[in-house]
Amino acid sequence: MKLLFLCLLLARNPLSDSLDLRVESLHDSIISIDTHNDFAMSLAFPRDRHTVAKGQVSFELMKQGRLDAAFFAAFQSQGPCTEEGRARAKWLADSMLRALHWYAHENQHLGEIAYCMEDIQRLKAQGKAAMLLSIENAYCLGEDLSLVEHYYNMGVRMIGLTHNGNNDIADSSMDSVERHGGLSPFGFRVIKEMNRLGIIVDVSHASRKTCLQAVSASHTPVMASHSCVYNLKQIPRNLTDQEIIAIAEKGGLIQISIGRYFLSFLPKDQVGLPLLIEHINYVVNLVGIEHVGIGSDFDGGGGIVGVEDMGQMKAITRALLEEGYSDDDIAKLWGGNVLRVMEEVSKFARSF
Ligand SMILES: [Zn+2]
Repeated sequence: MKLLFLCLLLARNPLSDSLDLRVESLHDSIISIDTHNDFAMSLAFPRDRHTVAKGQVSFELMKQGRLDAAFFAAFQSQGPCTEEGRARAKWLADSMLRALHWYAHENQHLGEIAYCMEDIQRLKAQGKAAMLLSIENAYCLGEDLSLVEHYYNMGVRMIGLTHNGNNDIADSSMDSVERHGGLSPFGFRVIKEMNRLGIIVDVSHASRKTCLQAVSASHTPVMASHSCVYNLKQIPRNLTDQEIIAIAEKGGLIQISIGRYFLSFLPKDQVGLPLLIEHINYVVNLVGIEHVGIGSDFDGGGGIVGVEDMGQMKAITRALLEEGYSDDDIAKLWGGNVLRVMEEVSKFARSF
């Protein structure tokens, strides 16, 4: 047995070893950021029927996968836009954000909540994970503009306008009917308020009209925190070339999701890194490396062969190197682009 182990050790491919070393040293110098996971739902409501609890997200897994920072979303599915529904949505969002604060506090030896670019850089230097807070579905704002600041004060730095149904703010990509024809008048005010405070506008899940209107209404770059390419998988949740180009022209980002649902119609066991790279390449060829990144959707349906959880994020770096991407390109894709957008958004807010 010992001899077999020794033979296996000697037989390891030196080229493969050197690529692994390159991946490690690259992660020493870059900042890697994943812009979407749904860990909050499973943390706060482990038995909720919408929870897709898979254990794909933790500070330990971030360390293992060399992932420096991640946006943790307080997600909720769309309910009725009634006084009662909106109150429940606010209670759900508040509960999930409090649960995330609790998690960061309990695990402060491994990570902390980050509120700005400088926090992420400081935590990287300390070898700690950075937890950024976001909201997936602005339903929780109801019709109350003051709640944007309430969530900013809770640490939220990105808000997704919709989930899979229309709300008071905007129309969703997955609803069968249009309610507002894109953003509602209140939705336009919400975007203005997000710009004033320094919160990134997230257009993943938004309808095509909502996305294009949000891009032009926002004074700062917008992000699709977890979306893929419509031309490669034609589902309403993916972005058309028109949307990708509009987002990029405004300086924004298309964060490719690590999920079969977004990437391919192939069976789950056939969806791996080559398809993820295909979607990345498509966006790079259309609008450039400055406008693409990763938004895993872990604990919300994400996960492909070879990248099953946050502990395996380095496999993406390796695949990008094999594809011929330079260290500079990978630094931008993994986190440089997100840091640039965060800085632009907070710079605009500081101008008030
Ligand atoms: Zn989502």
